[in-house]
Amino acid sequence: MRDPTIGVLALQGDVVEHLRMLDDVGARALPVKRADQLDALDGIVLPGGESTTIGKLLALYGLMEPLRRRLADGLPAFGTCAGAILLSRATRFPDGRPSDQPLLGAMDTVTRRNAFGRQVASFEADIGVRGLDGPVHAVFIRAPWFDEVGPGVEVLAEVDTPVGARVVVARQGRLLASSFHPELASDGRLHAMFVAAVRAGKGTGKGS
Ligand code: GLN
Repeated sequence: MRDPTIGVLALQGDVVEHLRMLDDVGARALPVKRADQLDALDGIVLPGGESTTIGKLLALYGLMEPLRRRLADGLPAFGTCAGAILLSRATRFPDGRPSDQPLLGAMDTVTRRNAFGRQVASFEADIGVRGLDGPVHAVFIRAPWFDEVGPGVEVLAEVDTPVGARVVVARQGRLLASSFHPELASDGRLHAMFVAAVRAGKGTGKGS
């Protein structure tokens, strides 16, 4: 089977690192900026950055509705940090107030932006991820966590916080989302997990 074609949404954020990591794990990776590029994709990565900005740019570039449709049609996606926020159905400010920013809404998750608070806005930790042997080195940068996950969502990783364990990696079918930035550590296993799911789903029709 040919290598899957995975787009990296290239409106803002750490695009190059994702492209490199996807290449390393055997995908054909390309930056995506236009709606007409979506048709050729077997999967898409939504990188970190600033979720409100990326949401505005998605609308400005005419990508919001086409991407929503592709996701609803079963396009696999991997969202990291701001990308995980964009995939969620709702998001909240750190104090819990709802944010009405535009989202793709493909996952049955509710995220909390900048959830780790000012003291630990950015940090690194080695965390266990279900399905992977050995810990993943996770780089959190003003990261969200998942406040709520629906019944169809698997929790793949949690971290301890002063307010208890919080979900930081979630999977719903072929939609994967992480609070942290796997592309910034030299460990391609989450990207490989995503690409494997894309490969497994190819040719089996739609659905995630
Ligand atoms: N704090 C950012 C947001 O809310 C996400 C940070 C990131 O992607 N590193 O959109």
